[in-house]
Amino acid sequence: MKEEEKLLETYQKVMVPNYLPADFIPKSAKGSRVWDSNDNEYIDLGGGIAVNSLGHANDELIEVLSAQSKKLWHLSNFIASEEAIKLGEKLTDNTFADRVFFCNSGSEANEAAIKIVRKFHSSINQDKTEIISFNNSFHGRSILNITLGGSEGSGKEFSPLVEGIKHATFNDINSVKDLISERTAAIIIEPIQGETGIVEANKEFLKEIKNLCDSNSISLIFDEVQSGVGRTGHLYAYMKYEIEPDILTTAKGLGGGFPIGATLVSDNLAQTLQPGTHGSTFGGNHLACAVANKVLDIINCPDFLSEVKIKENIIKTRLEEISSKYSLFSEIRSSGLWFGCDLVKEKSSFEFLDIAYGEGLILVPAGSDKIRLAPALNIENEDILEGLEKIEKVASKF
Ligand SMILES: *Cc1c(COP(=O)(O)O)cnc(C)c1O
Repeated sequence: MKEEEKLLETYQKVMVPNYLPADFIPKSAKGSRVWDSNDNEYIDLGGGIAVNSLGHANDELIEVLSAQSKKLWHLSNFIASEEAIKLGEKLTDNTFADRVFFCNSGSEANEAAIKIVRKFHSSINQDKTEIISFNNSFHGRSILNITLGGSEGSGKEFSPLVEGIKHATFNDINSVKDLISERTAAIIIEPIQGETGIVEANKEFLKEIKNLCDSNSISLIFDEVQSGVGRTGHLYAYMKYEIEPDILTTAKGLGGGFPIGATLVSDNLAQTLQPGTHGSTFGGNHLACAVANKVLDIINCPDFLSEVKIKENIIKTRLEEISSKYSLFSEIRSSGLWFGCDLVKEKSSFEFLDIAYGEGLILVPAGSDKIRLAPALNIENEDILEGLEKIEKVASKF
């Protein structure tokens, strides 16, 4: 039996069966290309679900990671880290935020955000504990975050869920107004929904939410775990809307593949997290922060970000051609290098993915009826074109 088959057989035995992995095991990758143990080559248009923002095995990231790995990995947050301080300065200098809390994932970043707003109001003796979130949003897989997500019926099997969370309808301001009360502490929203298939909030809708927050002392939390760090052609998606939140959560692309998350906060809210109130063992560790510093240095440049939009247009034009030739997608939505494509056929997106793997192409789904593209932001045009040719092949077989 081949090594790959053996490994996959072991996977079936030892892993909790919560994932259904592809039938190959990658051995190495560079840029937007991946190779498996049988030397098959794949073009990666999935980008590790918007995580590999600078592609695989990026030379500059390897350099900072290996340099840092020889100096210092971990000491705990009882001792400050130079890399974390520099990253905190970069994130606050370049966004609305005054302060930052580091953690390891998007879920943890949201957890901190909710703790901050609840504690803020309790510290000034206000009975404001309710959080408004949105139906069909995605905020992570912890008990708090599945409660926030609020997809139809979701989470019931894990109940009791977190109390005090209500769900409005995305892009429907009246549904938000209906839920607001004196007890509303925060509204948490993805300005552009990722898992739902790149669905953008209308600018007017977000503006009205911002106004409602301002006039009712409600904190506005933007979950930019997926939309952040250059994905949309802006450092953060809120910049395109010209609406500032009070708190922003970021993770996925921030470490370019190295796990890191952060909660960005305005100063008045941040003050509520005094020593001992919140923490993370690994959050802000030297390795993650060293890499994220480099990721931000590379991405947060006007030339780099405008290149993202140029590549978006190349992909979108070609996707539309393929789609009309094969009646493949009923709608293609995009924001920067981030695409949500609704399949016309009533066949699962996972079937599409399997055919794609066979053609040497990695994509990611968005639910069972949408295909998502979230390639490296620095993907080479050659890889884009080859990847799109492969999509056409997949379309002809789907
Ligand atoms: C992925 C994601 C999360 C959860 O991040 P994890 O790192 O998996 O915990 C939260 N919010 C959004 C918008 C995401 O896309």
